[in-house]
Amino acid sequence: MRTLIKNLNTQKGETVTINGWVHVARDQGKMAFFDFRDMTGTVQGVVFGKPEVLEIAKTLRPEWVVAVTGIVNERPEKMVKAGVLNGDIELEITEITVLNTATTPAFELTESTIGINERVRLENRYVDLRTDRLQKNLRMRHAVAKLTRDILDDEGFTEIETPLFTKSTPEGARDYVVPARLYPGQFYALPQSPQQYKQLLMAGGIERYFQFAKCMRDEDTRGDRQPEFTQMDMEMSFATEDEIMAINEKVLIAIVEKLYPEKRIQTVPFPRITYAEAMEKHGSDRPDLREDKTDDNLLAFAWVVDWPFFEKTADSDDPQATGEWTFTHNPFSLSKPEHIENLKNKTNIGDIMASQYDITLNGLEIGGGSIRAHDPEILKSILQILGHSDEKIEKNFGHMLRALGSGTPPHGGIAWGFDRLMMILQNEPNIREVIAFPKTGEGRDLMMDSPSPISDQQLGELNIKLDLPVEE
Ligand code: ASP
Repeated sequence: MRTLIKNLNTQKGETVTINGWVHVARDQGKMAFFDFRDMTGTVQGVVFGKPEVLEIAKTLRPEWVVAVTGIVNERPEKMVKAGVLNGDIELEITEITVLNTATTPAFELTESTIGINERVRLENRYVDLRTDRLQKNLRMRHAVAKLTRDILDDEGFTEIETPLFTKSTPEGARDYVVPARLYPGQFYALPQSPQQYKQLLMAGGIERYFQFAKCMRDEDTRGDRQPEFTQMDMEMSFATEDEIMAINEKVLIAIVEKLYPEKRIQTVPFPRITYAEAMEKHGSDRPDLREDKTDDNLLAFAWVVDWPFFEKTADSDDPQATGEWTFTHNPFSLSKPEHIENLKNKTNIGDIMASQYDITLNGLEIGGGSIRAHDPEILKSILQILGHSDEKIEKNFGHMLRALGSGTPPHGGIAWGFDRLMMILQNEPNIREVIAFPKTGEGRDLMMDSPSPISDQQLGELNIKLDLPVEE
C-alpha cells in the first residue's frame, strides 16, 4: 500500500512504499541521492550497497514517475533539517519501479517558476502545475471555495447551476456567441454573468442562491483579464443592502481568520466610503486604504457605496443601447429609495444614485452588487432611459418584465471576482497564477492552441461561410 510522503514520519523504522515523481536526482558513484515528490511533499531517498537497485537508480531522471520501497530511517542528528517536512528522516531505498519516464522538463521545477518566460510556462502548464507554488495556489483556491460553500450552506443558501447557453445579458461587454446548428443563423450567447438567471431564481422562490459561476466577456485584451473567469455569485430575497453586505463580510472574515491566520484585516467591520468621497479623497473609485502598503499580510477591505446609476457617454459600452445614457454597473439595479420617483419619471437622471455597493481590497475591486428593481415598471423605465425602444425592450427583456410581474420578491445580490480575490490572498502578481489553465493576456490557450480554425465540414453544418481578408 502506498504511504503519502507527508505521513512518512509516523512510520519510522518501517518499510514503506511511496509513489511520486523524481524531484531531484544526484548520482554520486557508489551512492545515489534523490528527492521524491508527491502531492503532499518531498522526502530524501538514498541508495547504497545494493548494486541491482543502484543500477536502476542511475537511470532515473527528474520527473520520472516511480514507486519506491524503502526503510524510513532517522537521519543522524547533525544531518537533521529542522522545521522542514521530513527533515529528520530519509528513505533507505530497497526497490524502485519506474511507472513512467519523462521528457526533460522545459524549466526547473524545484523552485518557483514565476521568473520563467510565461509563454513557455503556459505551453507546458501541466508541468508548471507540479510546482509547489501552483499546487498551493490551487489547493488554497479549493479551501476558500469550500469554506465559502460551507458558510453559505449554513446560512440557508442553495448552490444552483445556471445555463451557459443563453441569451445576451448586458453587463457592459461584448458577448461570446455559439452558433445553434439546429436553428441556422441563430446563436446562443455565453453568459457575461448569471445576472438574469439569479434574478429569475428569486422569481422562482429560491430566496437564497449562490454559485461559483464561469462568466465570459469578449473584451479587448488587457493585461490581467481573462475571457472566462469565475465569480462567486449570490442573490437574496427580502434582504436589505446592509444584510447582504453583512453576510459577505462574515464569509470574507472567516476566510482570512481560518485559512490565512498570518494575515490581518485592517478594519472590521469593513469601512464604507461613498463613491464621491473616494474620488475626492483618493482620486479612485477603488481606493487603497492600507496603512502600510509594504505589508503583504495586511488586508484593507472597504465598501464603496452611493454610485451614480447612469453616466453620459458619447459611445456607450452597452452594445444594445442607442441612447446617450449608459448604466455604470447593472441595468437591473434599483436606485436609492429617495430617487425612485426620478427613475419612474425619468427626471434628474444624472443625479439618480444606484443602490450599488462595490467591495474593494487593497486598491482592487473584488466584487460588486446591488438591490434590484423588482417592479417591472421601474425596470422598463430604466431600459427606456438607456435608450431601448419598446420593441427592443419586449424582445430582449420581455421575459424579465413578465417574471418581475409574476410575484417576484424584493431582492439583491453581489458577485465576487473569485480569481482576483485568490490572487490577493495568495500574494500573486496576476490572476493567471491562481487559475489552473489560464489564457494569455491576448486570450490564447497556448497549450491547446486555441482559438483555432474549424473544418469546412463543421462550418457547413453550422451554415457558416467565412468572410476573411485574403492573405497576401
Ligand atoms: N452581475 C453583476 C456583475 O457581474 C454582479 C451583481 O450585481 O450581482 O458585475
